[in-house]
Amino acid sequence: MPELPEVEVSRQGIEPGLVGQTIESICIRTAKLRWDVPTDILLTHGHVIRSVTRRAKYLFINTDVGSVILHLGMTGFLRVFAQTTPLKKHDHLDINLSNGQCLRFNDARRFGACLWQAKDADPHPLLLKLGPEPLTDDFSLTHLFELSRGRTCTVKQFIMDNKQVVGVGNIYANEALFLAGIAPKRAAGKISKARYALLSRYIKQVLAAAIKQGGTTLKDFSQVDGNPGYFSLQLNVYGRTGAECLRCQTDLKSQMIGQRNTFWCPSCQT
Ligand SMILES: [Zn+2]
Repeated sequence: MPELPEVEVSRQGIEPGLVGQTIESICIRTAKLRWDVPTDILLTHGHVIRSVTRRAKYLFINTDVGSVILHLGMTGFLRVFAQTTPLKKHDHLDINLSNGQCLRFNDARRFGACLWQAKDADPHPLLLKLGPEPLTDDFSLTHLFELSRGRTCTVKQFIMDNKQVVGVGNIYANEALFLAGIAPKRAAGKISKARYALLSRYIKQVLAAAIKQGGTTLKDFSQVDGNPGYFSLQLNVYGRTGAECLRCQTDLKSQMIGQRNTFWCPSCQT
């Protein structure tokens, strides 16, 4: 599943082919993805794409009349290439540009979404309760500590909740908790300010590292064949069931927490 780093790398991949181009037409082949695709997106016909931005895992194709919002869901991906490129199964939507290129959205499982944000309208309801972006200064080193007081859920569930901070998916939560030396089952409200500061720094670090690595391994967004794919990372704990800790050689533990696979070192993480 594409997480925040993959979505950001997708943004970086498609941006050069879109910004400054005029939308000639939009072809909606599939009327319903996760939700109905709003025909309001056709209002962008004849308008220039000013920028391509990201909020959490939503991508925004911004024009002077509004923004087409795209979400990759579980299996979605985007490419920019000639409009004449033969269609493949699950190619649901094309944004055709006046230079003969198009942005094509493919999504096998259709958990992805295409939504509309009119210019100067209230933010889309899906965006209202999102916490700060982890890679900006809005996500300060004291943010998690301040929100966590009195919270009894596990720290792992707490940092994966988009209301606290967006984009800390399961892999990144596992890895950041390992690097910060915090056991994932500890109660969120019982962790000190200093430890939250360390955890916040590692959340920023693992996400930034993934984006950097993705930018080098996943840069061809114009390829016709296949899927640009999602990148694999150097992982300390995630997915290493039964393996030894790379730091202390203790056997790693794994357990479902909040219905998500959780991996940790019982010696390094307390
Ligand atoms: Zn260890």
